[in-house]
Amino acid sequence: MVKVLKVKECPFCGNDVEVLASLEGYCKFECLICGADVAFCPPQGKEEILDVKKSIETWNKRSESSKSECCPFCGEDVLLIAFPDIGNVLGCYYGCGASVTFCGAERNKEKLVEAWSRRA
Ligand SMILES: [Zn+2]
Ligand SMILES: [Zn+2]
Repeated sequence: MVKVLKVKECPFCGNDVEVLASLEGYCKFECLICGADVAFCPPQGKEEILDVKKSIETWNKRSESSKSECCPFCGEDVLLIAFPDIGNVLGCYYGCGASVTFCGAERNKEKLVEAWSRRA
């Protein structure tokens, strides 16, 4: 059920991450050091589901943009969305579909933005 694969390091702290993949094709990336929790959802208007392979391809992309407020994967602007059940999430809804939160920062916007703005 859960596989650990070798992929690029965490864009926020530079440490190794774990890839958690399910048989349904759902895939997410977890950094045990900074607590980043990243999943990729299909971009708006596209029906295709991002499978494990595509998720890893997107994760391994790095933006040339040095602006720390932008998505580290594709360089697009992100939105801060508060979900009633899971808390605050930073979503790259106009770009790669990344949905990012940090362990312990879901309930604290300032912590979330601070963790997001760090770049390895
Ligand atoms: Zn990290
Ligand atoms: Zn993105």
